[in-house]
Amino acid sequence: APQVRDRLRIAIQKSGRLAEPARALLASCGLSWRESRDRLFCYGESLPVDLLLVRDDDIPGLIADGVCDLGVVGRNVLQEQAQDRVASGRAAAYREWRALGFGGCRLDIAVPDAWDWQGAQQLAGRRIATSYPALLRQWLAEQDIPADVVLLSGSVEIAPRLGQADAICDLVSSGATLAANQLKPVLTLLQSEAVLAGPVVAFDDVRGELADLLLRRLDGAIRVRK
Ligand code: ATP
Ligand code: ZN
Repeated sequence: APQVRDRLRIAIQKSGRLAEPARALLASCGLSWRESRDRLFCYGESLPVDLLLVRDDDIPGLIADGVCDLGVVGRNVLQEQAQDRVASGRAAAYREWRALGFGGCRLDIAVPDAWDWQGAQQLAGRRIATSYPALLRQWLAEQDIPADVVLLSGSVEIAPRLGQADAICDLVSSGATLAANQLKPVLTLLQSEAVLAGPVVAFDDVRGELADLLLRRLDGAIRVRK
């Protein structure tokens, strides 16, 4: 059930690649906070907009559960969890409100350097390691490629060297990690960046006005950065 609240609560990554840029962007929108001692919660001072500091993977679920109202998270994480909901027959609970222009990366398929790459059909019958099983399965189904998805929670790039998989589907920015593991990117499934995620249905209390104000300031801040 929707909760009536008079403060807006935004989840951001506690530590990691998106943590500092997310805070900096929100600060540039005129928000300021008083941090709690346990570093879980930042109480908004200039506006009734609070921060919740969490793991990025938890952000979509926190929005779905109504624990927080908005979140700053990679499109890769948001779409993976959204696709997982779709695949298991659950209703959409969140969507991308804005692209934020930082945290850019790609979700790529990469294969061993030694492969003579001919195209996606070469993946048929192969094992592909990933931390993004829903997005990979969706793509394989669209392409009509029968392949095995090997789910790994981290260090996906070493799976081919370990003999755990033939290829990988992982996040790539510079490509240095792939190269260090004798892999080359061959296909891009998703262009990602940090996004502002919010509910599918608009707020019906004062949070709606706060969100509108924040969006206007965000749009200004993003335009200035470009
Ligand atoms: P957490 O402890 O919050 O779970 P994490 O280790 O999952 O952190 P990070 O490595 O900080 O997360 O990455 C957060 C996001 O940064 C990714 O989901 C992605 O959107 C973005 N990103 C940008 N470039 C890269 C990259 N080269 N590798 C991984 N993620 C990247
Ligand atoms: Zn994470």
